[in-house]
Amino acid sequence: MTTKRRIAIFGSTGSIGTQTLEVITANTDRFSVEVLTAQNNHELLIQQALHFNPNIVVIGDEKKYLLVKEALIPHNIKVFAGAKALEDVAALDVYDIILAAIVGFAGLQPTLKAIETGKTIALANKETLVVAGDIAFRMAAEKKVPIIPVDSEHSAIFQCLVGESYNPIEKVILTASGGPFLGKKPNFLLNVRRDHALQHPTWKMGAKISIDSATLMNKGLEMIEAKWLFNLQPKQIQVLVHPQSIVHSMVQFSDGSIKAQLGLPDMKLPIQYALGFPHRITNNYPRLDFRKVSQLVFEEPDTKTFRNLVLATEALFKGGNLPCVLNAANEIAIFAFLRNRIGFLDMTDVIERTMQNISFIANPTVEEYFESDGEARQFAANLIKM
Ligand code: NAD
Ligand code: MG
Repeated sequence: MTTKRRIAIFGSTGSIGTQTLEVITANTDRFSVEVLTAQNNHELLIQQALHFNPNIVVIGDEKKYLLVKEALIPHNIKVFAGAKALEDVAALDVYDIILAAIVGFAGLQPTLKAIETGKTIALANKETLVVAGDIAFRMAAEKKVPIIPVDSEHSAIFQCLVGESYNPIEKVILTASGGPFLGKKPNFLLNVRRDHALQHPTWKMGAKISIDSATLMNKGLEMIEAKWLFNLQPKQIQVLVHPQSIVHSMVQFSDGSIKAQLGLPDMKLPIQYALGFPHRITNNYPRLDFRKVSQLVFEEPDTKTFRNLVLATEALFKGGNLPCVLNAANEIAIFAFLRNRIGFLDMTDVIERTMQNISFIANPTVEEYFESDGEARQFAANLIKM
């Protein structure tokens, strides 16, 4: 590679954002950091900016603007604040690849702007595709923009599909770790508190996705994400619980042959694959040693206990604005659970009732997705009396 790839990290202070900066630190000959953004953590954002010297920094929380500006202006780093600035900066021609690592619906607009303006998308923010996968992919096709998944399961499938563009997929098998409550039943889950739910057995992640993993909503969101990324019919997507998180996912082709991608659970690997694609980048991370893997287990998920997976499957099959509604209600439910306002199992009830009550729209526009998101949030918040 002759010229460096210019990277924008949206959500640079989060779990994916900080790991992306680790990957870049190990590969400064290939990548430069041009944009960093964060919502609240101005201290870390400033520290990152002083270290990586980006062109532009955006702080979401406008109350922090002056603090960030004062720290960075002497270093010739431009500083902006607020949600609108995120979109505006996403549209600027100062970078080549966006690592979309904002969590939740908030990541949608900046990512769409990046697609619209022809950037390569390294996508961690799965909610973008859950909410508006049709619009994102329509726009990406029009602008000839590659969307490369960072989510480990989807990165695995993407890697299995390299060189297979003429070969039809029979199905994909998304693996799920099962989260911290694998094997538990509703009578146990009734009393689960946030700190326990935040403890993931194999991955260290941000709060929202950790709860999604505990409820299995994460796998539901990932089914919808897979549908758009790989142009699949819902029935071609199967979920299997695989507690070791070694097989990151699999593709079964029309001759029955199955390809899998394996490795130790480390998000730096799919991150560097997405940033370096189509090249694999040499690293010295720990290697998987099969002699130390005593068994690889695969089992059916317990959908009677983890009903979020059923709700997400319903949204996957029905489509329209239902995945958007599911996502919005889920974000509100998690927010309430993290503040000890509702119990673990209540989250599913909030999502289910919201899905039943928001009007269905078969082919929403972007504006209608925003309206559905707003209505669903309002409805879910009223249920919780937030
Ligand atoms: P996180 O909570 O650790 O970080 C989120 C980042 O987004 C932070 O930088 C935060 O400042 C920013 N942010 C939060 N709210 C915002 C808002 N309203 N506006 C603008 N910025 C905002 O989350 P994470 O675990 O890094 O996950 C990020 C995304 O990547 C999620 O969509 C998640 O599903 C996906 N993902 C994460 C992992 C993982 O291992 N963490 C794995 C696969 C996919
Ligand atoms: Mg995943």
